[in-house]
Amino acid sequence: MKFQVEKIREDFPILKEKIYGKDLIYLDNGATTQKPKVVIDKITEHYSKFNANIHRGTHYLSQVSTENYENARKTVQNFINAKNDYEIIFTKGTTDGINLIAYSFGEKFIKENDEIIISAMEHHSNIVPYQVLCQRKKAKLKIIKMDKNGVLILEEMDKLITKNTKLISIIHASNTLGTINPIEKIIKKAHNKNIPVFLDAAQSIQHLEIDVQKLDVDFLVFSGHKIFAPTGIGVLYGKEKFLNKIAPYQSGGDMIKTVTFEKTIYNELPFKFEAGTVNYTGAIAMATAINYIENIGIKNIFNYEKKLLNYATKKLLKIDGLKIYGNSDEKTAVISFNIKNIHHSDIGEILDKLGIAIRTGTHCTEPIMDFFGITGTARASFSFYNTFEEIDKLYEGILKAKKMLS
Ligand code: PLP
Repeated sequence: MKFQVEKIREDFPILKEKIYGKDLIYLDNGATTQKPKVVIDKITEHYSKFNANIHRGTHYLSQVSTENYENARKTVQNFINAKNDYEIIFTKGTTDGINLIAYSFGEKFIKENDEIIISAMEHHSNIVPYQVLCQRKKAKLKIIKMDKNGVLILEEMDKLITKNTKLISIIHASNTLGTINPIEKIIKKAHNKNIPVFLDAAQSIQHLEIDVQKLDVDFLVFSGHKIFAPTGIGVLYGKEKFLNKIAPYQSGGDMIKTVTFEKTIYNELPFKFEAGTVNYTGAIAMATAINYIENIGIKNIFNYEKKLLNYATKKLLKIDGLKIYGNSDEKTAVISFNIKNIHHSDIGEILDKLGIAIRTGTHCTEPIMDFFGITGTARASFSFYNTFEEIDKLYEGILKAKKMLS
């Protein structure tokens, strides 16, 4: 399919909105993405025509609802090329999936003095659950360092691995720096030592083609809301051999086979990990979002966003005193920056009044801020519906902010 941004923009109703009387320029896609009309319509269609709780009813609506939900699982399976549909667990989002593994994998496989390796550029969601686990089990968290360009120093990882290393959990693409990590290499190195790898794909799934079998990754998580689907739905992929060995993270309805007051037998995969009424409407709408972006083509999306990134990087670097954090050769379309002697949140506020939505602060990556010795950054994160004209307006807006604040 030919990539036509103006046509694509027509699919996103919110992009027609005015903010303070100005055209909305939405550059906060790292935080959450906007939703195409097909996704919004899918939610309305589901609640208008098919809604009933899944897996529980013999009646028609419940059967249709269940079928649509299970088809959504197959859509996700095909999207990331998982071997089996039951290796796809629906969660609330990335954080929920990480907590599930940190808890359940941790209970089964982590004991005193064991070690878990993460990296210097993790989102808080891929740090704190492992800190909690390490506290609970008296295990140790080790950190792969990065260099000043925001690139992981892989030789560091080799040095960190010991016979006690039980899991490596890595961000695929950094929400703050944009860095795309060399996960193929990391997975190979880890597997050579029989260490499973967990991938936080929250910032890669919407930009890069991901094939879990080709990568041979053991676990992977992402959030629906960052991939043009609603909030409150996400995915945990796990290899069957691990998911079968670990116990449920939450218990209650739907995750059981039989219950007596004496004993409960857990359900099989994937239901064992889907306690209670799941966000089935979210899952169904997420499948629509996946079909939508597959129709455009993830490669087309990546190539277009790369052009946006290159254009924006060159343009913003023309601004005197502007520094970009994250200068890896392999980047998603994210630019974190500061301007000398100006606070990032002041830039954000002025841009907001011009209708330009960027994010300011630590982006849930305080260790990255500590590394660079800063309190935060301004971050513009792009998606395939953004345009070169919007980047020009961002540039003009930053110049205006700089003039006002200097
Ligand atoms: N990991 C990364 C890399 C992220 O960018 C985010 C959200 O920004 C998360 C994890 C947490 O995602 P969620 O808040 O959807 O659970």
